Amino acid sequence: MNTMKIGWIGLGLMGTPMSQQLLKAGYPLTVYNRSKDKEAGLKEQGANTASSPEELLGQSDIIIIMVTDDKAIRSVFEGEDGLLAGEGDGKVIINMSTVSPAISKEMAQQCMAHGLSYLDAPVSGSVKQAETAQLVIMVGGEKSVFEKVKPVLETIGKVALNVGDTGAGNAAKLAINTLLSFYTQGLAEALILAKNNEIEPQVLLELLGNSAIANPYTKLKGEAVVNNNFKAAFSLKNIVKDLKLSRDIGLATPLGKTALATFEAASQKHGDEDLIAIYKYLDNSN
Ligand code: NAP
Repeated sequence: MNTMKIGWIGLGLMGTPMSQQLLKAGYPLTVYNRSKDKEAGLKEQGANTASSPEELLGQSDIIIIMVTDDKAIRSVFEGEDGLLAGEGDGKVIINMSTVSPAISKEMAQQCMAHGLSYLDAPVSGSVKQAETAQLVIMVGGEKSVFEKVKPVLETIGKVALNVGDTGAGNAAKLAINTLLSFYTQGLAEALILAKNNEIEPQVLLELLGNSAIANPYTKLKGEAVVNNNFKAAFSLKNIVKDLKLSRDIGLATPLGKTALATFEAASQKHGDEDLIAIYKYLDNSN
């Protein structure tokens, strides 16, 4: 029986399946989401709900956050009924959102002043990995705090690694998503080149699947293109957010600049669709 009480903030595409893993593992769970309708599913499955981050803090030993961006983090911590309005009591806040190292450093300082511990712990993997507890979790912050919450993180992911001090998890995640953006754009461009030379996408995918660069991501996103299914698992507007964060921490390489410009333009048309919708954008602007 897991007795550590967990509070969860942010029930979007990722937060919902991730928090469900904790319920399945038997942790007492309280959830909070800005839009209340998204709490209904978790409530039906046995979670309690809180009316604000402050109330959630009062009911939990560990608080996990999975929201969009730096702005959302600021509102969860510093809003009127935010986490920093509550009692710290040595509780641990784990921020799993993909945000800047700078906001993590700032919130870690604020947490310390309020008697709270802070870890940045973003994840690699998408909805499918969240639903099967196969996420890769990279953690920035104090080792002793990490060790305390590691069993909780291992309920959500297949691996949880402490990669350095506060903000290091965020920086590692931005490096991964930078590569992800390059790869996604590259895949889209290869599929378009093939199609324009009378090689159907499914044929190229079969070749790729048997080649030295075969990987599950190519299969997943290639099938999305073949099936014309661009429903977001990871939205195009969120990869733009991440490329801007990468730029802000020093990404100034040729591919980095190109990827940001291309995904930004694509996001104006397809921002709420999956990042592989860059295929549609590039195909139509060819
Ligand atoms: P999402 O479906 O858009 O969910 C965003 C969540 O953030 C919702 O719960 C939303 O609340 C909340 N939120 C946004 N602005 C807020 C604010 N100002 N105050 C309070 N709550 C706010 O996004 P997601 O795909 O789950 O992604 C969540 C995070 O994980 C992002 O940082 C993303 O980059 C990262 N990530 C995503 C994936 C993926 O494949 N999707 C993979 C790895 C990491 P409402 O419901 O009220 O809007």
